[in-house]
Amino acid sequence: MKILPFLPELIRHIFKKPATVKYPFEKLAVPKRFRGTPILIPARCTACKICQLDCPAEAIEIVPVAEAEKKFKMTIHNDRCVHCEQCVESCPFNAMTMNQEFELAVFDRRKLKMEYVYTKAAPVPKPKTETTPS
Ligand code: SF4
Ligand code: SF4
Repeated sequence: MKILPFLPELIRHIFKKPATVKYPFEKLAVPKRFRGTPILIPARCTACKICQLDCPAEAIEIVPVAEAEKKFKMTIHNDRCVHCEQCVESCPFNAMTMNQEFELAVFDRRKLKMEYVYTKAAPVPKPKTETTPS
């Protein structure tokens, strides 16, 4: 293999800043709209189950704990979640959000389960987002 044609390119790259970082010792900031892990904001959740119905990965489970006290339990199965953000889009009450966490690897997938026990909130619809003219 002839190295001569590649030599200028090779020399150029010796003095160039690397395009990669030494992960995990060095970390880059994730983009602002990065979809990490879905998080429930219990104080806003009405337990309407729209997120559960819309989740394409069946990663959300909502069950009553004590119906008289309006207590519910939401389980988010992060081992099934495909980080599509559909639950955030679908929630009419702004009760779901995504964090920017991406280092989720564990040896036991049961550790990826997140549980919230909460009293269902009174509905406060999320403000309408402005649509950009096409
Ligand atoms: S981000 Fe997508 S897959 Fe994950 S819980 Fe929400 S709707 Fe389900
Ligand atoms: S997170 Fe939103 S969509 Fe899901 S049950 Fe609570 S209020 Fe309903």
